[in-house]
Amino acid sequence: MSMSGSPIAIPARRGKAALVTKGQSIRVINTHGEQVVDTWAFRRDDMTEFMSMEHSRARIQRLIPSVGDSMLSNHRRPILTFVEDTSGGIHDTLMAACDVYRYRCLGCPGYHDNCTDNLAQGLGAIGLAPPETPSPLNLFMNIPWTSEGVLSFEPPVSTPGSYVLLRAEMDLVIAFSACPQDILPINGVGRTPTEAHFLLE
Ligand SMILES: [Zn+2]
Repeated sequence: MSMSGSPIAIPARRGKAALVTKGQSIRVINTHGEQVVDTWAFRRDDMTEFMSMEHSRARIQRLIPSVGDSMLSNHRRPILTFVEDTSGGIHDTLMAACDVYRYRCLGCPGYHDNCTDNLAQGLGAIGLAPPETPSPLNLFMNIPWTSEGVLSFEPPVSTPGSYVLLRAEMDLVIAFSACPQDILPINGVGRTPTEAHFLLE
């Protein structure tokens, strides 16, 4: 099935979700170049089956998926395949979605926008609710590791307009959050979250 529309905005600091048909591709565009996009995929007719980072890592035997790799669901079925990646190939499969507790740990006493709430908000806008907050595929997020296994939070290596093209391997609900992290430099040293876009093809 081929269907092309206009790019859909993932507003800065917010979530956005859409229905995707098996065989369609989803182009996730880093519009301004340095925005981390938390990405979730749920089986459309049973949202308790969803893309799972831990099941995917066991399958691809890498910390970062690359072109040709299929991410698995928590039922170990292919759910999204990396078809193309012009972003430099740096993504993260290790870090949980940010949430109010994360920002509290980082010294924010009040409410802070967060990817966990954005998932619920994005799905809510199309009449759905997340069964839980699975660990996201953090597109464009740069979490390097040393040979001792030490991790750090670094700015993205992606560039404006670069993208990842993902193929849906089942009928899906796809959800994104333009991560509102503005304390750590994961959205660039300017610490300024921006919008991103996606396109269903
Ligand atoms: Zn986040």
